[in-house]
Amino acid sequence: MLYNEPSPLEVKVVTRRFGKPDSEKIDTYLADEGYEAFKKTLTLTPEAIIDELKASSLRGRGGAGFPTGLKWSFVPRNTGKPAYIICNSDESEPGTCKDRLLMENDPHQLIEGMLIAGWTVRSPAGYIFIRGEYRYLIDIVDRAVAEAYERGFLGKNILGSGWDHDIYTHTGAGAYECGEESALLESLEGKRGIPRLKPPFPAVVGAFQCPTILNNCETFSAIPAIFRQGAEWFASLGPPKNGGTRMMCVSGHVNKPGVYELPLGFPLMRLINEVCGGMRNGKKLKAVIPGGSSSPCLRAEECDIGLDFDSIAKAKSMAGSGGIVVLDEDTDIVGLALRTIKFYQHESCGWCIPCREGTTWLKKILERYHGGGGREKDIDLIHEIAKGMFGRTFCALGDAAAMPTYTFIEKFRDEFEAYLQKSRPKQIPELALL
Ligand code: SF4
Repeated sequence: MLYNEPSPLEVKVVTRRFGKPDSEKIDTYLADEGYEAFKKTLTLTPEAIIDELKASSLRGRGGAGFPTGLKWSFVPRNTGKPAYIICNSDESEPGTCKDRLLMENDPHQLIEGMLIAGWTVRSPAGYIFIRGEYRYLIDIVDRAVAEAYERGFLGKNILGSGWDHDIYTHTGAGAYECGEESALLESLEGKRGIPRLKPPFPAVVGAFQCPTILNNCETFSAIPAIFRQGAEWFASLGPPKNGGTRMMCVSGHVNKPGVYELPLGFPLMRLINEVCGGMRNGKKLKAVIPGGSSSPCLRAEECDIGLDFDSIAKAKSMAGSGGIVVLDEDTDIVGLALRTIKFYQHESCGWCIPCREGTTWLKKILERYHGGGGREKDIDLIHEIAKGMFGRTFCALGDAAAMPTYTFIEKFRDEFEAYLQKSRPKQIPELALL
């Protein structure tokens, strides 16, 4: 199922088969050169596969943007333990809705990417960890896995290689925290989804205490194209160190929101004006959240950048999960700050105090502020609480939770102040803070 009309400006790599009849079935996949990349890698050594990935400059599409080939090279071999392959399809970052399309429209592409990873480290098994709310996708992916077994791409002695590999699907229970790789592993092992102490990192001690390749669904889905068409071609699609394309999930105040596959480095303003048909109702652009709700927002005047990991980082934000939220001039920034912190407070696993207490206090103060009962000093209080969370929480969700509130105040302090003037019906007694 497609959620928007494709744009002629798109460069289709991972979405190349979207919209074709029966695109999720193995027969159509095989007709479109499906599993040819995997067959090619069966003739390559692990080192050659990893070198090709490094040359492609593929970076993780889940959030951190870590180079995939380098990540795979950290997985120790000959430890006497099996290595596992984990696909993170726990897509939960507000504004992000791409992995579900990949699993819905082209599950064999994902399976093929995981098979290449599995073969590289001679893994006995892989797991696709699917967000709890995506239950409907389990049937689609399970059917694809069953087809792969029937055609000899999974199971014993795959294509006569002497290598055995199984793939299983697994649903989370709908916790945002399980998108964090170590919490995902805990959940996969049947435990409460809270993060692990790092190091060791999952590459060395991951699933079931064994070496593990853990990548996002879009990252695995990009791998077959690299081995089909070559690392050089893939790398050339984007700027240096930012190879390939990215599925950009655009929501908010544009005429044509949707998921578009564009080369990394594609200009943000062209995305808004040409791909997405411009601002809705002819309004002015106020800000853009470029990488899911936890990425720092960019004011309109900061949006003249390319959408690749390094350019967005240079603008002091993050490419994150590819969820791009466009905000027009009428956006209530205080309301948005409240809405965002409500999400993170609800999703905080509660394990460490700065995140648990920080999100709770931010939510309560912002609720009062938004409700018209704010005090002048609340602006600094909110800012200080958010700032105090950075680097003091156990996992990245703490920073993710604090970031939107912190940046909204940094960049739109004037709006917080104006809001106070407009809607300050009463003084709050000093002690009635919460
Ligand atoms: Fe849990 Fe938040 Fe601490 Fe992460 S930062 S461990 S989500 S309480």
